[in-house]
Amino acid sequence: MTAIISEEQVKKLREANVAVPDVNETCIWCSACVAISPDVFELNDEWLSEVTLRDNYEGCDVDDAIAACPVDAISWNA
Ligand code: SF4
Repeated sequence: MTAIISEEQVKKLREANVAVPDVNETCIWCSACVAISPDVFELNDEWLSEVTLRDNYEGCDVDDAIAACPVDAISWNA
């Protein structure tokens, strides 16, 4: 069972120098990021992709998801 990361969890990970991806509200729910990086991205019921809680996001193809996003909604910085 995966969980969507909370703002507080993002803050804690970033304080520990863990790079955490962010999806902004320009997401058009195309699901490309979920197809490329299913361990990190999840589509919610509000037409947005969200980031799941993990210890780190290395080796999860996040850079490929960033490159594939048609609206540049994903970044490593909120
Ligand atoms: S690839 Fe971009 S637009 Fe498509 S679901 Fe992911 S964040 Fe949203």
